[in-house]
Amino acid sequence: MELFFTNTLTRRAERFEPLSPGLVRMYTCGPTVYNYVHIGNLRTFVFEDVLRRTLKVAGYQVQQVMNLTDIDDKTIRGANAEGVSLREYTDRYIAAFFEDIDTLRCERVEYYPRATEFIPQMVELIRKLEEKGHTYQLEGSTYFRIASFPGYGKLSGVDPSGIKPGARVDADEYEKEDVRDFVLWKAARPGEPFWETPFGPGRPGWHLECSAMAIALLGESIDIHAGGVDLVFPHHENEIAQSEAATGKPFVKCWLHGEHLIVEGQKMAKSAGNFYTLRDLLERGHDPLAIRYLLLSVPYRQKLNFTFDALQAATAAVERIGNTLRRLHYAPAASGEGDLPLAAVTEFSHEFQSALADDLNTARALAALHTFLTKVNQALDSNGLSQDALTATKAALRLANGVLGVFPEVTSEQVDAEVEALVQQRAEARARKDFATADAIRQKLLERGIVLEDTPHGTIWRRVGRG
Ligand code: AMP
Ligand code: ZN
Repeated sequence: MELFFTNTLTRRAERFEPLSPGLVRMYTCGPTVYNYVHIGNLRTFVFEDVLRRTLKVAGYQVQQVMNLTDIDDKTIRGANAEGVSLREYTDRYIAAFFEDIDTLRCERVEYYPRATEFIPQMVELIRKLEEKGHTYQLEGSTYFRIASFPGYGKLSGVDPSGIKPGARVDADEYEKEDVRDFVLWKAARPGEPFWETPFGPGRPGWHLECSAMAIALLGESIDIHAGGVDLVFPHHENEIAQSEAATGKPFVKCWLHGEHLIVEGQKMAKSAGNFYTLRDLLERGHDPLAIRYLLLSVPYRQKLNFTFDALQAATAAVERIGNTLRRLHYAPAASGEGDLPLAAVTEFSHEFQSALADDLNTARALAALHTFLTKVNQALDSNGLSQDALTATKAALRLANGVLGVFPEVTSEQVDAEVEALVQQRAEARARKDFATADAIRQKLLERGIVLEDTPHGTIWRRVGRG
């Protein structure tokens, strides 16, 4: 399975080829753990999860890092406002983050480093940059001199030529479109955590964290770096500058950036009253699988417009998948050839995989899935599926769900409970002498290979092979 991704660095769709055959080293910028993540963040994390699962289905071993930014202006502000330690404050939101990604069935990746656990590696990186003349000090802080790195701007396309010498920014929250020397190490300030280093007491700048952790855990050159589009500039541009200036090697082969989620056509913002966390949606009774379905239903390079209508449609889609899976779970094999040719299964698998290989076109993959489910349901409504078709269908769906992760769990107990409910409905219909409904239910169950026997002690049911 050959994969094609649009590389932000080259602005082209490229055939993906990792630096070491069979192994993908991937870095994904994780949450700043000062609050609960919102559904925009989660859209990006779900996109990265689909990317990871696709790489695995394509046969690669994946080594992935998702960092936890536990020290920056926002986490420090939050901890100080509550009067608790930075560790206590960030621990709470790290736990919540894991809960949220588990709820959305994102696979756990190999490494979730906290920035504060990689201070020695950050210091070492600054030392290298200093040695090569890329840094300068001012009022106790250490800055990266953008003019010393000729490749600056290659990812984002910003033009560094207009930069005023000595124009600096040392906040973690950036003004966009403004090119300035950025802070690597910030001088200690009263009330802020700090570490003693050869460049004085202080704390790391945000950009430095990612470069140091990527190099420490994955190596100086990696295959994929992903994040939301807001990170292209300055965050990722600065990561490239620091990493490549220090190592002299290309930092990342392929950069992937996910477009933002918006809500009802508007930028999501607390002030606009359209800001949602996963918890907000769960409280309103929405199904996590439907939320995941919606978040991955739009290809990552397009904006995703989150609406409650779209969430309703996603809920219906997930239900439809569940219904088909339950029908398949106990469908007896047709005695003859059945109504689903094996070629239909192969065609589905092929279309599904080529959709993902095409820059993770999840919309196309879902369309292929639903077309296939229609065929499966039509076959179940008529002569059923042969044993081979049943086995192939279940295997193809399992593989599809390996990437999507949106299929409801179907257990025998659930299926039995559904049958029990239908038997009960039929008994009620009979009691009110609504024999048409009662017969329709009997017929529906028969189509699922279930026969009813009315005894003086009530109705019993059993499964039979399809004749
Ligand atoms: P942060 O915690 O702000 O560093 O963001 C974590 C991840 O979420 C980054 O990859 C961001 O690019 C991404 N992100 C932030 N806002 C949105 C949004 N509205 N839609 C999609 N991704 C977002
Ligand atoms: Zn980062």
